[in-house]
Amino acid sequence: MPEFRTVKISRILNPTSIDLGEYVINPYMGCEFACLYCYVRFNKVISRKKDPWGTYVDIRVNAPQLLEKEILLKKPSSVLLGSTTECFQDIEKKYKITKQILEILNRYKVYFTILTRSTYLREYIGLLNKGFCKKIYFTINNIHPSLKARLEGKSHPYDERFKVINELIDKGIDIIPYFSPILPWVSDFKGLLSEFPKARSIEFEGLNFRVGNIEKIIDTISSLYPHLRPRYERLLKDRLYYNEFWNSVKKDILKEAKIAKKNYNVYIHNFGSYFNNAYSEKLS
Ligand code: SF4
Repeated sequence: MPEFRTVKISRILNPTSIDLGEYVINPYMGCEFACLYCYVRFNKVISRKKDPWGTYVDIRVNAPQLLEKEILLKKPSSVLLGSTTECFQDIEKKYKITKQILEILNRYKVYFTILTRSTYLREYIGLLNKGFCKKIYFTINNIHPSLKARLEGKSHPYDERFKVINELIDKGIDIIPYFSPILPWVSDFKGLLSEFPKARSIEFEGLNFRVGNIEKIIDTISSLYPHLRPRYERLLKDRLYYNEFWNSVKKDILKEAKIAKKNYNVYIHNFGSYFNNAYSEKLS
């Protein structure tokens, strides 16, 4: 059980270079889902320095009051919710900080984009359909439940997420299923593009081999699939092997997209590079 702590912060709208909003909003610091491949895990600016990621959540109780004030001062045209936390993690059911933030954004007519992997989003349909929710990137995957339990055991089940995505798309919300991370030889995306008949596009992102705990991720995958350890270690070291592997993944996704007649994007991290993604082809 993570440690939950209520805190007061001095600013809620933070400028960003992410091209999904002018500012980011993170109602919590920390995340009870504790995914092993979380990007924030090693970012010491936006996490507690001493406590391991997933063991704490700071609840920013004054975030809604600050937001009202800052909107009047900064006049944001668009914001991104959940760049360094999960806005709809389970503690949200009790504190409803994200709920209050969505109410304010709607009231002040500020457009917002959401990053999430939580099925709790479903409860907020009444705040998502007011015309200001631009887009939601909903992270999904498809790996064996025993591996999911070890890599992101506290996040919601994949089949539940699929259901919520389709339900919300049916209600007119623009949701992009975001398949991430593709775990080599483990994530199964065969037939997956047909699971979301009304999604206008599906996006994929390969595993980032430059995250700080890649060895731990490889250990975890190898604990279930020992034969994959040498292959993963080769992906870490061998540029040619790495590029050939991800090119074959892109071809497989293209094949699947053609069958499903679905638009898609694939983001693959360049070999040895943390931030630069190679941006792959679109079907149309
Ligand atoms: S849900 Fe998102 S923020 Fe939370 S641990 Fe997983 S990747 Fe990180």
